[in-house]
Amino acid sequence: MVGDEASALLVEAQRCLEETRFEDAKVAVESAYSLEPESGKVRDLYQQILMADGVRTSQKARDLRRDEIRALNKRERSSYRDGPMVEAAFQKALKSFDKILSTNPTNAKAMMLKAGVLDRMDRHGRRDEVVRLFEKALEIHPGNEELLYARERIVRPCRHCGQSGVCPECRGAGEISALLVRSRCPVCKGSGICSRCGLF
Ligand SMILES: [Zn+2]
Ligand SMILES: [Zn+2]
Repeated sequence: MVGDEASALLVEAQRCLEETRFEDAKVAVESAYSLEPESGKVRDLYQQILMADGVRTSQKARDLRRDEIRALNKRERSSYRDGPMVEAAFQKALKSFDKILSTNPTNAKAMMLKAGVLDRMDRHGRRDEVVRLFEKALEIHPGNEELLYARERIVRPCRHCGQSGVCPECRGAGEISALLVRSRCPVCKGSGICSRCGLF
């Protein structure tokens, strides 16, 4: 059973979701969770909304990164470093997945998506963390195909992009220019991400 106050917050969270007010949905469900952290109903919606938030925020981080790369000239692109806005968006996504995992440490999807974010943030620097996360996830869910597939793509060396994770054709800009005409990169379809290993 969920008490009146938490119930009202769940209804509010649902309504915000329907109206695509995602930040408000998150605030409402987090309040419900702080009131009744043991309620199954609250926990389900809490995890669902945080999952969506993490996915959306990491997508935003990638879009911001692509825009920043696009704003550089070609010679500067290979030495690109994430700006503070990109960094903050990735951290926010990580926080959402960590919150899910502190509520439910066996949530395979949250572990997999967290690994994807770490990989996107810094493929070399966070590699050990990514490998450990997949090890742990597969210990809890042995043989889980989605996890195995994600690990294969993320952890195995990629010959296509030289382990940068960035589309080698456009160097992450998502567009190419020829004869002063800019067009969408045909290899990554504008995402700026390596189409072989870029899973998320
Ligand atoms: Zn690649
Ligand atoms: Zn490309």
